[in-house]
Amino acid sequence: MIIDVLTIFPGILKGPFSESMIKRAQERGLVKIELTDLRSFARGRHRQVDDTPYGGGAGMVFKPEPLFEAVEALSGEAARVILLTPQGRTFNQALARELAREERLLLICGRYEGVDERVREALVNDEISIGDYILSGGELAAAVVIDAVVRLLPGFLEEESTAEESFSGHLLECPHYTRPPVFRGMAVPGVLLSGNHAAIAQWRRCQSLRRTWERRPDLLAKAELSPEDRQCLERLVKKDE
Ligand code: SAM
Repeated sequence: MIIDVLTIFPGILKGPFSESMIKRAQERGLVKIELTDLRSFARGRHRQVDDTPYGGGAGMVFKPEPLFEAVEALSGEAARVILLTPQGRTFNQALARELAREERLLLICGRYEGVDERVREALVNDEISIGDYILSGGELAAAVVIDAVVRLLPGFLEEESTAEESFSGHLLECPHYTRPPVFRGMAVPGVLLSGNHAAIAQWRRCQSLRRTWERRPDLLAKAELSPEDRQCLERLVKKDE
């Protein structure tokens, strides 16, 4: 996969992509992440990318010319062009999976008041928000989207790790424990030490249902539940009454 990021502050994004697994994914050729300075497409001595809004008001708006030229130069026909904006569709795991199937993404990071509306109308395929709050720029939002997408690329992780984690199948993941078996009087649930794989799988599934029921009951409505899952939930509800 190729991911281009258009930003006026490429330095903000250097850190997140130069450490740990995402760095290794680039070294192994799973993904190529290219940070492009939008100013290199701006004209004039000052390489100005923004201007005052028509109609007045505070703040500056990204001009259309540098963005059109940059997107045309970088993407050709092939890339899915994404604008990071608080007005977009809220990012989630399902969207991360959808984007992970693309061959090429181009992410546009806004600043100030955002971008000229004609960019949104004519260049952009998707608008993505990472949540209902306002960041000062799209760079951190781009980092979030890229991290979530790249870890889903085939070969990045063992397949089971992403198949069972939170939001797969609309459930939160079960709790995890590691050594020691007792720490400051807090013991690991006995079933996990039992070596009984069927009992462990059943415990994990029930804990995952429990977590979801306690913290995100809205997700449960979308989950596919087996008769055993329903029994587990009925026990939880009874305990709560
Ligand atoms: N005036 C804009 C509005 O009210 O919709 C907000 C502009 S914000 C200060 C500057 C840039 O940060 C946006 O153009 C966008 O690229 C990015 N941004 C801010 N919050 C975001 C969010 N929740 N998700 C994605 N991008 C965001």
